[in-house]
Amino acid sequence: MSTHPRSKKRGRWIDITFIITILALSSLTIFLLTLPNPAKKEKEVVSANFPTEPKEQINESDSVYPGIRIITETSNDEKTPYAIQFPQSNVPEFNNLVKTYTNNLKTLYLKEADSLSESNIHSSGELNISFEVFQHTTGYYSFVIHSYMNSGGANGLSETKIFRLHNQSGHMLTINDLLANNEKALVKLATKVRESILADEQLNTYLLQKEFTEKTMPTWDNYSNFSLKKDSIEFYYDDYEITAGAAGSPIVSIPLEDINDIIADSFKLPEVAIQPPKASSEKEEQPSGGKQQEDTVVTPSEKVVALTFDDGPNPDSTKLILDTLKKYNAKATFFMLGSRVSFYPEIVKEMKEAGHELGNHTWNHIDLTKASAEKIALEINNTSDAIEQASGSKPTVFRPPYGAVNNTVRAQTSLPVVLWDVDTLDWKYRDANHLLEHVKKHVKEGSTILMHDIHMSTAEGLDAVLAYLQEEGYSFVTVSELKK
Ligand code: ZN
Repeated sequence: MSTHPRSKKRGRWIDITFIITILALSSLTIFLLTLPNPAKKEKEVVSANFPTEPKEQINESDSVYPGIRIITETSNDEKTPYAIQFPQSNVPEFNNLVKTYTNNLKTLYLKEADSLSESNIHSSGELNISFEVFQHTTGYYSFVIHSYMNSGGANGLSETKIFRLHNQSGHMLTINDLLANNEKALVKLATKVRESILADEQLNTYLLQKEFTEKTMPTWDNYSNFSLKKDSIEFYYDDYEITAGAAGSPIVSIPLEDINDIIADSFKLPEVAIQPPKASSEKEEQPSGGKQQEDTVVTPSEKVVALTFDDGPNPDSTKLILDTLKKYNAKATFFMLGSRVSFYPEIVKEMKEAGHELGNHTWNHIDLTKASAEKIALEINNTSDAIEQASGSKPTVFRPPYGAVNNTVRAQTSLPVVLWDVDTLDWKYRDANHLLEHVKKHVKEGSTILMHDIHMSTAEGLDAVLAYLQEEGYSFVTVSELKK
């Protein structure tokens, strides 16, 4: 029996009205925040949650590409090392497509490596998946995913696959969309591509006539692997797809103004295209200086350890690590991947401001001992540039991926090479408790401890590790301080 049925009823109605108002306001906010705004490049904090992916929260404010984040997976396994990087977005359908694509490559690699090792061929394999991002003024991203796979046999296999996404609408752009499904437009485009290939002396020299004819025929499928850049459309061909090996994997670039009359209206260039002269984006060659820093190792007088974190930065886990380090007034060293630095420059700036040492860990986490001198220099120099651009300072130390280093690698940089003596294997165990147990067992005075700041388990386990080491009388220094 209710004593005040009227007021109760009114109370419920007020509740319902209140809830409806809140719901309406929050969906309006979400709607406004997700409106396409391709021109805007500054920080955007979107607080909308995506219930389909509760564990992968998107830190929009940290990425220079709003709504996009990088997933990095690396394995230091002796037989089957790999480094995989792929993009993820707000759109589950896109996320699944990309994840499935990279996962299939990984599965194939591990399976082939396994069967090769059974047939007693002893050499380590290599799988490298990395990507580039391009943005068109319509807001469409093109993710160009490059992969190189060698399961330990004689020949490696490289492949380029492109995924295109409008992150706000979730639309994945096809060539049919771009050409408004017009067959005549497709024929025109095919002619442009053929002309462009034939006009290129290098490609022309190595052209495989039959393959070229087949692969450039005006079928929708032939033109499906493309990226849409600001001023051009690019088509990617794998080794031997249209040219012999020496020509590598050709990229054919067609200026958008050349096909402006055949593309769908929403992609057409504005009538008056004012293009300010842009400074060359080519990386200037870095003065190598040639001077190798001396490796003077003096035993430190007090009990110190150098904590090192590889493969980042990563929004959530690196931030947590920075917070924990601050709590213990600890300084550490971060060996970062240029590809990730260019995505998350804000975190690098934070690191620098907190007094941590910035280290170079290459752009794509490749095994440098298998790369040419030019490639090595590019991997290192581009990363140093990205770190400087993000933080204002060049990195002061270098760590080669997998610890794989030889004289060719050393000759490409004046940065001191820093390895480690305690490998926590955090990438393998992904377990906060294991991290502490491992450190307890192996740490000694002057140790350099290897961890990876891309794993949440490492970030979560760090507090206990620091508490333990502090209790044992250790203080925490950067690798360069350790060497003093
Ligand atoms: Zn690494």
